[in-house]
Amino acid sequence: MENNQSVDEVNVSDGGYGVKESSRDQREALPGEPKCVICGRYGEYICDVTDDDICSLECKQTLLCRVANKGMRVTPVPPQRLPATDECYYVRESDNSSGYQDYSSDQNELVRRKLDINVKGDAVPAPILSFSSCNLPQRLLQNIEAAGYGMPTPVQMQAIPAALIGKSLLVSADTGSGKTASFLVPLISHCANFRLKHLSKLKKPLAMVLTPTRELCIQVEEQAKLLGKGLPFKTALVVGGDAMAGQIYRIQQGVELIVGTPGRLIDLLVKHDIELDDIMMFVLDEVDCMLQRGFRDQVMQIFRGLLQPQILMFSATISQEVEKMVSSLAKDIVFVSVGKANRPNKAVKQVPIWVDSKKKKQKLFEILMSKQHFMPPAVVYVSSRLGADLLSNAITVTTGIKSLSIHGEKPMKERREIMQSFLVGEVPVIVATGVLGRGVDLLGVRQVIIFDMPNSTKEYVHQIGRASRMGEDGTAIVFVNEENKNLFPELVEILKSSGSAVPRELINSRYTVGSFGKGYKKRKHGS
Ligand code: ADP
Ligand code: MG
Repeated sequence: MENNQSVDEVNVSDGGYGVKESSRDQREALPGEPKCVICGRYGEYICDVTDDDICSLECKQTLLCRVANKGMRVTPVPPQRLPATDECYYVRESDNSSGYQDYSSDQNELVRRKLDINVKGDAVPAPILSFSSCNLPQRLLQNIEAAGYGMPTPVQMQAIPAALIGKSLLVSADTGSGKTASFLVPLISHCANFRLKHLSKLKKPLAMVLTPTRELCIQVEEQAKLLGKGLPFKTALVVGGDAMAGQIYRIQQGVELIVGTPGRLIDLLVKHDIELDDIMMFVLDEVDCMLQRGFRDQVMQIFRGLLQPQILMFSATISQEVEKMVSSLAKDIVFVSVGKANRPNKAVKQVPIWVDSKKKKQKLFEILMSKQHFMPPAVVYVSSRLGADLLSNAITVTTGIKSLSIHGEKPMKERREIMQSFLVGEVPVIVATGVLGRGVDLLGVRQVIIFDMPNSTKEYVHQIGRASRMGEDGTAIVFVNEENKNLFPELVEILKSSGSAVPRELINSRYTVGSFGKGYKKRKHGS
């Protein structure tokens, strides 16, 4: 990099006083001067790993620590002495307020390697290291800052610039790693820019986001509203349970984005004449679920009604089968994956316990009544709606802890209220079916209890993912027994690769042992 200087040069240009060690040594920023991204003091230096303004070695350490932790919010580490050579530092030469980053491809690769970002596809743009470096509308940048997003997470670093130049994407990244903003930021930017350029009274929708559950749609729409505040960007929520008349009216008034579940959306499109020819972005959140039987036909029916939009697809669990399936949806899809695909979030500690079905309730009550083990607010996952109702009642009666259930049979209004009382802390335990398994951002939840194992390890990865957002530590207590035998081989592999203890019964089960043998042979043949 051209203006990168050695530590000697730094010393000279710093009047011979050396690089500021601590943020306390740095002065406050004057109006118009760059500010340290960590502490807000004068950003005298630029970190050449992230290209962010920083004031001192101390803040640089904190910044690098955040990057290494994949953009998570971490508590600043105490200052440490850096090596004498100054590999990661250069002094501000001229104002870099445009934030433009001119990385050589070696540097792109370095950033990708450090953050475990893998890309496949043609002409994939460089990862961005700050939101301000990709020409977003000023108001959107302000909204991003107001949302508390200091710097992009790794998935955002790569997905946002690629989506901004119009690439269709298939992206896999951990649960809780910031995938929602990875599609909302470029989507809002495109919509707002389009409206500013094409001033027309007739406002047909410009983008569509489909997700598998109402809860997730509600959340995505809320985040879209937050990030799109003050811009020509309106949203409509199209989910079952809410009156369709209101949804239609809103769309007819002119919206930029429709967020919905496939079933209700088709219902609405069939019954009402909504012009979709301006839709330029089509997002499938939880894409693997959206392309499973049950949803696939509906999704494809909607997609076929559009005029070859840019398509953005996201999930924490993407199989090769899904990769193959999406290849036919758009040309030149860019594949992005952050970290290891289909693996549980590393921040969630998995605690599998072997419990016979008859003893599961008793075990759950013991956990909930133990000061040491119960960490409210907690989600308990079960496999049936009736089971959710019965178990939540039993929890309240037996332990005295307030518990409610949430599942697809409850009216939307009630589901909203239950979520609200759970998230504000009035109800410490919620018993849920898969409706809360994917995507929903359960802020504050650090514990999930898998009472009934889901049908697949994919859903398992999503459910335990609810215990951590942005890399904060969480725990998943997982009840397993003979009834889950078809999942044993994959589950053991997941537990082992995450460094979790595996119950003896699970390892020694004839299902595990037998299937491992088969799997092992298969891989050998394949290689
Ligand atoms: P995912 O879809 O990958 O499961 P979400 O998009 O729901 O994850 O994001 C998880 C949490 O992280 C949310 O609370 C979101 O507001 C927050 N978040 C997203 N991006 C950032 C960022 N750049 N900085 C800080 N927090 C972020
Ligand atoms: Mg998500």
